[in-house]
Amino acid sequence: MRVRPAVDAVPEHEEPAVCAVPLRGEPQGEGQCCKGRPEQRGQAAGKVSRKPVSAPRKQYGPYPRRSFDKTCQRCGVSFTTTHREQVFCSRKCAKRAEHPDEVTRFMANVPLLPADQCWPWMGRLTSWGYGAFKRQGGKETRAHRWMLEHTRGEPLGKLFACHRCDNPPCVNPAHLFAGTNADNAGDMKAKGRARSARGADHPHTILTAEQVAIIRANPIGRHIHAKNFGVAKATIDAVVWRRSWRHVP
Ligand SMILES: [Zn+2]
Ligand SMILES: [Zn+2]
Repeated sequence: MRVRPAVDAVPEHEEPAVCAVPLRGEPQGEGQCCKGRPEQRGQAAGKVSRKPVSAPRKQYGPYPRRSFDKTCQRCGVSFTTTHREQVFCSRKCAKRAEHPDEVTRFMANVPLLPADQCWPWMGRLTSWGYGAFKRQGGKETRAHRWMLEHTRGEPLGKLFACHRCDNPPCVNPAHLFAGTNADNAGDMKAKGRARSARGADHPHTILTAEQVAIIRANPIGRHIHAKNFGVAKATIDAVVWRRSWRHVP
């Protein structure tokens, strides 16, 4: 309990409550002087702080503000908020949730399948059937290529990302290997995919293998063959000189 000092105890030389020097820029009011307002005295001797003393936050309505105990949707931290719709603990979490990093975005398109199976890309596919993935900067890459670079830990550069399983949308790293163009072509040849359409398999062909045999048996008179089979004379020449239909004996 504070004891009010006796009036006699105040020395004669102490300053009066209101001094004669006015406060700069402000009209002199009750208790104001060059030493500041009465409540500021003692905090800053001689220097006047213009910062107003913060009042307690105004309470609107008769009830206290409701607060909600929540769990952050991204990092799982528990927090309290007065906003009912808030789902993230911080602006940082909200931003990260809206713009997830590259690995998170990639893995969202990878199916959860056993390691020995193909993992077909669930996102967009290119016209050649490979997975399309946009990197962090907007540049697009093939999904299997991204996966191989990610598992290798270094960029592929000029190397090719090849499939062991011959399944273009597959992004299973166990089915991928980095190879040169020659490796890729050799791989295709070994699997029998390099052969292009020959002879009657080709959609633009007119002659048949039997007709080719007839032409080669009678190489003289190309204009007659051309008229009979409905092709140009140069086509007959090509057959006779074995520039075309080379696989037929
Ligand atoms: Zn969070
Ligand atoms: Zn595969």
